[in-house]
Amino acid sequence: MRMNISILGSTGSIGQNTLRIIDKKRKKLNIYLLSANKNYNLINKQIIKYNPKYFVITDHHIYKRIKKLFKNRRTKIINNFDFLNKLKNKVKSDVTVSAIPGIAGLEPTLKIIKITKKLLLANKESVICGWDLIKKTSIKYKTKITPVDSEHFSIFQLLKNHKLSEIEKIYITASGGPFLNYKIKQFRKIKPKDALNHPKWKMGKKISVDSSTLVNKILELIEAQKLFNLTNKKIDIIIHPNSLVHAIVQFKNGLSKFIYHQTSMIIPIANAIFDGNLDIRDFIKSDKTKNNLIPSLLFKKVNNKIFPIIKIKDRANEHASTSIIINAANEILVDQFLQKKIPFLTISKIIMNILNDRNYRKYAIKKPKNISQIKNIDTWARTLTMRKLINE
Ligand code: NDP
Repeated sequence: MRMNISILGSTGSIGQNTLRIIDKKRKKLNIYLLSANKNYNLINKQIIKYNPKYFVITDHHIYKRIKKLFKNRRTKIINNFDFLNKLKNKVKSDVTVSAIPGIAGLEPTLKIIKITKKLLLANKESVICGWDLIKKTSIKYKTKITPVDSEHFSIFQLLKNHKLSEIEKIYITASGGPFLNYKIKQFRKIKPKDALNHPKWKMGKKISVDSSTLVNKILELIEAQKLFNLTNKKIDIIIHPNSLVHAIVQFKNGLSKFIYHQTSMIIPIANAIFDGNLDIRDFIKSDKTKNNLIPSLLFKKVNNKIFPIIKIKDRANEHASTSIIINAANEILVDQFLQKKIPFLTISKIIMNILNDRNYRKYAIKKPKNISQIKNIDTWARTLTMRKLINE
């Protein structure tokens, strides 16, 4: 029997990597649902090539055009994820990869959990903003969750058969992105194209900018705290320009373990789909799989002059909703930077500024119980961010 697989964000970097895995195992994997937003050409190609049962297109204009074009095809073209509620209690998808960036990925993820056996979570922002809801829903619908962000996939593997009480400390690694070796004076001139030029990973625009500011690592630190129930003291960030070791777990017994793999998201995603039962050479070229040529691995502390955002590390998860506020502010700021409306350094500056706003605590201590309460905090933080930008 073929496994049914679904992808939220199939036209993106994670989505296309997942499709590359599927391409190599068409006899084992059948595509159930794909989703995208507005990439007209790629949506077209994916419907023709993969013939999924459903294709969800969120952008209304693109949805209408595609629906008209494919009106006589097997694939049902749908405009939102609400129909999934009607399928509830019926498992339709053996595996779903959740890879819509930002808080926009949270509601689709919560809806698809109900019809999925195993959820591969790439969308870190949904963990950061709605982990309690995701966890509760996954318990209710007996959906297994595997994080596939490479650091969290590594931690997930390293903690198997261990108790939290055995851990001394966990380190997540950061490549340092394109500006690791920049001089301070160069930061003023950074343009979107420079930030998108990551030296090690090929990723979507938002996560590439997040990597260049190191906000990505702050988000990942929060993500790890939520996923693995870690206190702030148990986790830290170190720079590792090789990007080969993804996480290190130090145990109280004096041993440390780490996971090392080449910089390809195919490795965590394929391992998560097939529960580790695979030969990675089926999916990526052999030069990418040769772990025998281990270069000298370099690790160093984060320099807070290069990455000022690191100063909020100990506050990033200090209250129940701090992470929602940081995420919302960052989403606005990254978007403004990509539109060339604000300078690069303003991203970190405004996020830090928001944590010192006089109204911050009032919203940060709220414990949202549902999506609409999460959205209220998100909206407050977005409005405040825009206001601060106007006053810049
Ligand atoms: P991309 O920007 O490459 O792709 C985003 C995908 O989501 C596209 O299919 C896009 O559709 C769709 N999309 C974008 N906005 C919306 C929206 N508002 N509603 C519905 N669909 C939307 O992102 P990545 O693949 O790089 O990242 C996806 C997630 O995975 C992020 O949360 C990221 O942090 C995480 N991640 C990514 C890694 C990577 O290597 N890329 C590594 C680890 C984690 P369209 O193309 O039609 O606009």
